[in-house]
Amino acid sequence: MPGDWLAEHAAAPPRIGPEGLDAAKDRAVAAFLGLALGDALGATVEFLTPREVAAFHGTHKDIVGGGWLHLKPGRVTDDTEMSLALGRAILDHGGLVSARAAAQAFSAWMSKKPVDIGHTVRRGISSFRRSGLPWVADNPMNGGNGAAMRCLPVALATFGAPWEQVNRALRLQGHVTHSCGLADAGMEVVAALVQTALAGPSGGIAELSRLVERFVAVNPDFSPDGKPQTDPSGFIVPTLRAVFQALMQARGFEDGLVDVVNRGGDADTTGAILGMILGARCGTAALPKRWLKKLDPATRGVCEAQAAQLIAFAPAISGRDRAVTVE
Ligand SMILES: [Mg+2]
Repeated sequence: MPGDWLAEHAAAPPRIGPEGLDAAKDRAVAAFLGLALGDALGATVEFLTPREVAAFHGTHKDIVGGGWLHLKPGRVTDDTEMSLALGRAILDHGGLVSARAAAQAFSAWMSKKPVDIGHTVRRGISSFRRSGLPWVADNPMNGGNGAAMRCLPVALATFGAPWEQVNRALRLQGHVTHSCGLADAGMEVVAALVQTALAGPSGGIAELSRLVERFVAVNPDFSPDGKPQTDPSGFIVPTLRAVFQALMQARGFEDGLVDVVNRGGDADTTGAILGMILGARCGTAALPKRWLKKLDPATRGVCEAQAAQLIAFAPAISGRDRAVTVE
């Protein structure tokens, strides 16, 4: 079972004492902003090879827009927009994760003709509209990174809940469009990394590397060992191999993000996923000011507000055992 690796190692859900409350809230905000910054930075070089990135941009390290979507500087894509749709749905249900509410939120988002949408996501939302069922059947071809790229709101609202509940909540939102063991494993490790990072700076980035090592010991497809992962596709395995390699070498937020997006490929999503993890670890003070200035102000505002509201529901913060899902 993909979940066993963490159940075994996360016997005690994190709790935040009153002294750590402000820091945990700051890291939650940094995680959501990190997601948006990584998305906006990476979108410029999505689908390029590292060689093409170097030819067009040298080292790509500023938020300049453009790319195949011809974005304005600071504009985000589906990674951030779907996360915000899911976050809104969770907040509108009192902090509870509901598959139906998530499916309705994704459907409403798709109606607004988003700037970008993945094939598997479109298929899943279309299926919900036809059948009314907020999940898709198991399919090994549903191993895209679309469920993991938007799982941050669940990681925040369930922070400190028993792992089985976190797992259930992740699957409720993920299976609206993706139902595949690898996609599930991807969500689990991303959420576990975010929650470990939120819990505090005790082990720095090295603590996250050890979590990756435990995960790949039972999910060897994702091993970051071997050749540098460049030009990662939208499949969850190369996406996370690139994220893990950049995470394990990162000297800080900006350093890690620049590394991962310069690998090209699905760079907005590798940027988004590493951005949420490193944001949660490093806090808002580590986010480059020049990137924050470029980020679309309305997007920035709603990311900050949602992060603060979602983390307030987290069992680790509220200190109470509470349900985290609802039908
Ligand atoms: Mg995208």
